[in-house]
Amino acid sequence: MLGLMQDQPLLISNMIEYADRHHGDGEVVSRRVEGDIHRYTWSDVARRSRQVANALDGMNLAFSDRVATLAWNGYRHLELYFGVSGSGRVLHTINPRLHPDQVAWIANHAEDQVLCFDMTFLPIIQAVHSKCTTVKQWIALCDADKLPADTGIPGLLSYETWMGQQSTTYKWPVFDENSASSMCYTSGTTGNPKAALYSHRSTTLHAYAAAMPDVMCISARDAILPVVPMFHVNAWGIPYSAALTGAKLVFPGAGMDGKSIYELIEGEGVTFAAGVPTVWQMLLTHMKPQGLRFSKLNRTVIGGSACPPAMINAFRDEYNVEVLHAWGMTEMSPLGTLCTLKNKHLSLPKDEQMKILLKQGRAIYGVDMKIIDDAGHDQPHDGKAFGDLLVRGPWVVANYYKGEGDSPLVKDANGLEWFPTGDVATIDADGFMQITDRSKDVIKSGGEWISSIDIENIAVAHPAILMAACIGVKHPKWDERPIVVVVKKPDGQVTREELLHFYEGKTAKWQIPDDVVFVDSIPIGATGKLLKTKLREQLKDYVLPTL
Ligand code: AMP
Repeated sequence: MLGLMQDQPLLISNMIEYADRHHGDGEVVSRRVEGDIHRYTWSDVARRSRQVANALDGMNLAFSDRVATLAWNGYRHLELYFGVSGSGRVLHTINPRLHPDQVAWIANHAEDQVLCFDMTFLPIIQAVHSKCTTVKQWIALCDADKLPADTGIPGLLSYETWMGQQSTTYKWPVFDENSASSMCYTSGTTGNPKAALYSHRSTTLHAYAAAMPDVMCISARDAILPVVPMFHVNAWGIPYSAALTGAKLVFPGAGMDGKSIYELIEGEGVTFAAGVPTVWQMLLTHMKPQGLRFSKLNRTVIGGSACPPAMINAFRDEYNVEVLHAWGMTEMSPLGTLCTLKNKHLSLPKDEQMKILLKQGRAIYGVDMKIIDDAGHDQPHDGKAFGDLLVRGPWVVANYYKGEGDSPLVKDANGLEWFPTGDVATIDADGFMQITDRSKDVIKSGGEWISSIDIENIAVAHPAILMAACIGVKHPKWDERPIVVVVKKPDGQVTREELLHFYEGKTAKWQIPDDVVFVDSIPIGATGKLLKTKLREQLKDYVLPTL
């Protein structure tokens, strides 16, 4: 017997129509590439998304055709989120920090028909437009009078010229909720990038999940600053969750430095901010010397790479801001776990709570996860055994775009299919997962595994250290030994010996790095993560001092 409930597809257009009807006067504020602040409402977003949809219809773009963006977090990007997907096309957000050749490769692979870009990225487009063979229309996300006369890009239109005259009424099409809505290529450091292709259903379920109290707890009382880019996994789904809850959105545009972020947080009454640790490090570095405080910010979600304990402590103890550690990946839309305490943990002493808060967190309802050993056997959830982390769920990829027959999934003994995350983790009896490493970053010393994340966390807890990356180097006896590569704070003073001494008592003796390498900077990838492949390349001639 089937249930007798209405069968309505979960479509992204429903979110923006809901936002228009139920909290149309809610604010969306953006720092524009031009430097000024743009301010309008959710009703304006809805109206202009309908204009985008009309413009795409006017170009006779087919259902599922790809419309690409190369853009910062801002209001026009938001309109494309709803206008493109809502009208049945696929929004392809491209990471502008990629090498121009990769941008062209991705645009061709996705067969993008339209590409919309912020003026910051004009030089990239000028370099690659002739190589992007499928793009029929280039659109600059700017006012008509901001479009330079001779850009060399054929047929280039300003966004406002393209959509500004369109009708503001539009009948959103109704279609299968499993239809593709957006896509994002993984930041893959080896081989060609691969695209996760999200659906209206997966995006909607993820948006509900992301808003839950033990996840990001997004509500109509929030003002959210997604510093996490809209070009990287849909800014962790925040634009959608904000539309369905009525939260205010505050977009930082190109201004990711500590000062710009701080000004927006204070100026716009931001209660909740989301980003990767490198961005928060810049914010804290800006605030500390001037004794700056937050007036409304009460929580921040940090993910994308492991959050150093020193950062969680600084936010909690010095600024009274709760830090939620999150874990996920492009292939997971991206949220998999969030770290929020259970009721029984509230009475624990602070340092015991801290041990839990450092973990990546509990699986969100909708994501199932387990750890397996090399032979594929399930490992116990005891917080000690570690193994390869597998996930499954309705917002986890089943395959990559154009992946054809080669499924990335693995089948377990019960016939269930799982996505191997490439992360190595433990899961404790309460379900808290902790990443020990990327499987390719884990250091194997004398048959034992050393977590590079643990080694990095200890280094950045030293007051003189700004950034740290731990990598393994070849060793004749132990196979591999860890070294830690560090960047000192501008006024930081520490010697190699002092830093090695700092490790004593904080980790097992054999896990203490064999050497410290001081550098001016550590390469950061297109999504703000330490680029260890590049670092290994830079240090390829490095020899351990004891050898
Ligand atoms: P991406 O698909 O580019 O978002 O990268 C996903 C990968 O980032 C994951 O598989 C993890 O290795 C890493 N990652 C994401 N969040 C965290 C976190 N909170 N702690 C440690 N690693 C993380």
